[in-house]
Amino acid sequence: MALLEMRGVRKSFGDHVVLRDVSLSVEAGQCVVLIGASGSGKSTLLRCANLLEVVDDGVIEVDGQEITDPRVDADEVRSTMGLVFQSYNLFPHLSVLENVTLAPRKVHKVAKGEAEERAHAALADVGLAEKAHARPDDLSGGQQQRVAIARALVNRPRLLLLDEVTSALDPELVGEVLELLGRLRSEGMTMLLNTHEIDFARDVADHVCFLHAGTVHESGTAEQVIGDPQQERTRAFLSRVR
Ligand code: ADP
Ligand code: MG
Repeated sequence: MALLEMRGVRKSFGDHVVLRDVSLSVEAGQCVVLIGASGSGKSTLLRCANLLEVVDDGVIEVDGQEITDPRVDADEVRSTMGLVFQSYNLFPHLSVLENVTLAPRKVHKVAKGEAEERAHAALADVGLAEKAHARPDDLSGGQQQRVAIARALVNRPRLLLLDEVTSALDPELVGEVLELLGRLRSEGMTMLLNTHEIDFARDVADHVCFLHAGTVHESGTAEQVIGDPQQERTRAFLSRVR
């Protein structure tokens, strides 16, 4: 059974249909990468998976449980996922450690000692153990994004959703974040992410979905979709971003 499964997902904003009929699945331990032009609905898809957007139609299941059922507790569903955005959104007045312990303490009511222990472990995971007491402003953009990833990991998510997490970074800082994602993936973290870093996508993806006009226009292994695309639109997109 897939960890995350979407079937026939539809999402509009007013009369603008963004996701028309999206179906995809992410198996436990897999990394699925969404590619597609700006505006093709990649962020919306991730936000739907995390129930930050309510879908108009279709079904999303996590581990066989239908999370699009309105009776489901959205906070509980979200607590099983980590979501990281392009803009890392750290609180500048809090230390790195406080940023990472905030959700476990406030949302999950984890005791301070345990939250800090978990936060130190998550910071060590992202290679920032020694920055626990720094302020976000004292860190580089790449380090701040790694803190944001630690903040997502601290809740021990079963699924990590990553929305263009390197797009806001200076080019020389992109590598350290991609390297971290590659390592998390090799450790078996299940991930659904979107990126314009096509070479990275090819390296890390078990499965690639090219979004166009509100549907998964072409999907398959990275070798298939990026290495040997069958659809004209996929080829045109890849030649633009390369
Ligand atoms: P991508 O991440 O692939 O660039 P998005 O999911 O951000 O695409 O956006 C897809 C389309 O949906 C865009 O046309 C965007 O303007 C529109 N859109 C996204 N979020 C909203 C919203 N909250 N309200 C209205 N339109 C939105
Ligand atoms: Mg986006």
